[in-house]
Amino acid sequence: MARPRIAALRHLILNRFREQRKIMTTPTDYSDTVTQLRDTVERVCKDFPGEYWRAKDREREYPTEFVQALTDLGLLAALIPEEYGGSGLPLSMGVEILKAIHEFGGNAGACHAQMYTMGTVLRHGNKEQKEMYLPRIATGELRLQAFGVTEPTAGTDTTSITTMAVRNGDQYIVNGQKVWTSRAAQSDLMVLLARTTPKDQIKKRTEGLSVFLIDMQEAKKNGMTIKPIRTMLNHSTNEVFFDNVPIPASSLIGEEGQGLKYILSGMNAERILIAAECIGDARWFIKKATDYACERKVFGRPIGQNQGIQFPIARNFAEMLSANLLVDHAAKLYEQGKPCGTEANLSKMMASEASWNAADVCMQTFGGFGVAEEYDVERKFREARLYRIAPISTNLILSYVAEHELGMPRSY
Ligand SMILES: Cc1cc2nc3c(=O)[nH]c(=O)nc-3n(C[C@H](O)[C@H](O)[C@H](O)COP(=O)(O)OP(=O)(O)OC[C@H]3O[C@@H](n4cnc5c(N)ncnc54)[C@H](O)[C@@H]3O)c2cc1C
Repeated sequence: MARPRIAALRHLILNRFREQRKIMTTPTDYSDTVTQLRDTVERVCKDFPGEYWRAKDREREYPTEFVQALTDLGLLAALIPEEYGGSGLPLSMGVEILKAIHEFGGNAGACHAQMYTMGTVLRHGNKEQKEMYLPRIATGELRLQAFGVTEPTAGTDTTSITTMAVRNGDQYIVNGQKVWTSRAAQSDLMVLLARTTPKDQIKKRTEGLSVFLIDMQEAKKNGMTIKPIRTMLNHSTNEVFFDNVPIPASSLIGEEGQGLKYILSGMNAERILIAAECIGDARWFIKKATDYACERKVFGRPIGQNQGIQFPIARNFAEMLSANLLVDHAAKLYEQGKPCGTEANLSKMMASEASWNAADVCMQTFGGFGVAEEYDVERKFREARLYRIAPISTNLILSYVAEHELGMPRSY
């Protein structure tokens, strides 16, 4: 790969975004940036066609080259403020990058965390932590891709996690287990949520949890083990075991015992960004299905001439367009610092349903060829299904809306 050319291109792109921001007066001024971001992402994705993703999928291999190409162009540092070496773009531009990656055939699941997990450090870290880590995350020298929250016995009930970090002088000693810690093997740092006060000693169930930024390379030498979980899609996800792992006390982010609050403060951005990926997927399926419906001739005419084929695709388009409006609306609210829990959650729900419905219709449109690997439909179909479960499942979104928006009694 021609590194100097890419470095020069990165410089050029970042400077262009920065210049544009200086002359912007309203949020709509970002339209040129959106076009440039989409063009840039499309060019990257062209270098990584279906064959690349199929080979990675077959071997369950991490798409290192694709992630490196995005890193080299500064796309994963889009949301890091300029003072720490990023482009300082608003969330809606991260949304556009992720939509485009998925629309043009890529999969950001391998690296989306590099874009937003740093938010925990940015919002709640101290000056030294920000200065030490953010510039190196912006260049890609450090990968902050692992987010250790979910545990096998607690599941969605995060307040029941049992992984313990016990203070011992200028260290904490960590014991416990995480599950579904994606990209742990491809990460230098992990944001870890662990209990610092036993559950029976806390007054409120949301207290007693703390967030740590862990140096994975050090932890691996000192009792942390990573065990990959083979899944139906290529997602590099793992179990992570902590066996008396010492970490410096300086790894604590913010105040001890307030960790759940810090993790929750990043959830809305995460939901919106994942929703963006679903919009990209839905667009990919709709285009794939439409093209095939126009080309494939059966009974002497294109199958797309049949309303039984047209209407489901047109419905997918309607669902994608509506969900997209909600995603953009949620991103705007987030950027304005307004409450957006309901919009962020619902955008993830509606976008994941739009992409899943589009996946199903695309497969149906392809008939038997839908299940053949070479068309990429079956692979994208497997990938699209995940987002109805993770990072939050549909039921939990509905229960959030029932409780917080409609004022119904809490169900758990
Ligand atoms: C591929 C993959 C990658 C992931 N990556 C990460 C990661 O990087 N870091 C991380 O921390 N986690 C990660 N996760 C975990 C993910 O966030 C959880 O799987 C998800 O939140 C659901 O939790 P669970 O699997 O424990 O399901 P459970 O909590 O066991 O729930 C199972 C089912 O029961 C339903 N349910 C549970 N409680 C209720 C209720 N009160 N009312 C109605 N229905 C309910 C749920 O909606 C769900 O459908 C990942 C998961 C997957 C599959």
